[in-house]
Amino acid sequence: MSNYRIAVLPGDGIGPEVMAATVQVIEAVVELFDGLSVELTSYAAGAAHYRETGVALPDSVLQSCREADAVLLAAIGLPDVRKPDGTEVQPDMMVGLRRGLNLHSAVRPCKLYPGIKSCLNTADDGIDFVILRENLEGLFASYGGGCRVGDSVATDTIVITREGTRKVCEYAFRLAERRKGRPSDGRRIVTCVDKANIFRSMAFFREVFFDVAAEHPDIAAEATYVDAMSLYMVQNPSAYDVLVMENQFGDILSDLGAGIVGGLGMAPSAEVGDEHGLFQPSHGTAPQIAGKGIANPLAMILSAAMMFDWLGEKHGDSDATAAGEQIEQAVCRGLASGETLTGDLGGSASTSAVADAVVSALESKAA
Ligand code: ATP
Repeated sequence: MSNYRIAVLPGDGIGPEVMAATVQVIEAVVELFDGLSVELTSYAAGAAHYRETGVALPDSVLQSCREADAVLLAAIGLPDVRKPDGTEVQPDMMVGLRRGLNLHSAVRPCKLYPGIKSCLNTADDGIDFVILRENLEGLFASYGGGCRVGDSVATDTIVITREGTRKVCEYAFRLAERRKGRPSDGRRIVTCVDKANIFRSMAFFREVFFDVAAEHPDIAAEATYVDAMSLYMVQNPSAYDVLVMENQFGDILSDLGAGIVGGLGMAPSAEVGDEHGLFQPSHGTAPQIAGKGIANPLAMILSAAMMFDWLGEKHGDSDATAAGEQIEQAVCRGLASGETLTGDLGGSASTSAVADAVVSALESKAA
């Protein structure tokens, strides 16, 4: 019997609403497996917590995240809650969690689910690729550093290491081995996205990528420049399977990826390291729709499915893996029936109606 301790961080804005929907789905899915249980413990952290206490991510919460088997996080940040320097607390907290849990790779699936219409007219073969974003280095290594000289010059420095690049590239190839290949022809292929024609750091990233590729001869490998990639993602998205790239490039292209598969409400993510995993939707706190009960919880629910998949792989636990699959299949059934279409997807379902529909799709599968 596996019992997983999950640290739950609902956060701000629509965070608590999409988290409540997701907890409902998690509690329902574990009921389907005799050998699976979860212990969900909720912690206060984020912008509202900063407003009350002056701390966004208390040390005790970070420690609880370290001790948990996985972390589920909804969304952090409120535009009117600012630090004395005028910036929001969200970057501090996310970089703190990434560094504190050593989450070296961010996994961002861009998948067009049945029942969702892409804004592209080039998606006939389907869209199903995954962006692997290096999560600790690149331009974000400069976060909290950087240099400003008077009123005339400011710099931030990009950092690429062999170890960090190897880790994210290895994750990309391992992921490609588990996937079915790109939608256009089923070929398993990892694409390195860089700017190796201009920057030494990027030429180095590409060099390490091909070193790792040589250790995975069963998976095809190619490299392309990031500017061209933003064109190809729009013109020919079905030609991609797994994309791996530097931190800032991944930050930008994953929003573009979300845009072509229905928007941020359909974009889950996993941030993983050798020990820890944190799972959260790609969207922010959407304060303008918070408290109305209309937020789309599917990105959060699909992030929970990724959590079960990661736990299953890490612990060799087929029940956890199956729980992740069950959630994704239930989401597919809900979308196909139209019951889980919230306003951002052209429907009128409420957040709680989506949770109910996903839960009943789970139950009907098990029956
Ligand atoms: P952040 O800077 O924290 O990433 P943001 O302001 O850039 O946040 P979001 O908060 O993600 O971005 O919101 C961007 C837009 O997408 C908003 O118009 C919001 O209403 C919409 N949106 C985001 N997530 C959802 C969701 N789960 N359901 C419905 N609409 C959403």
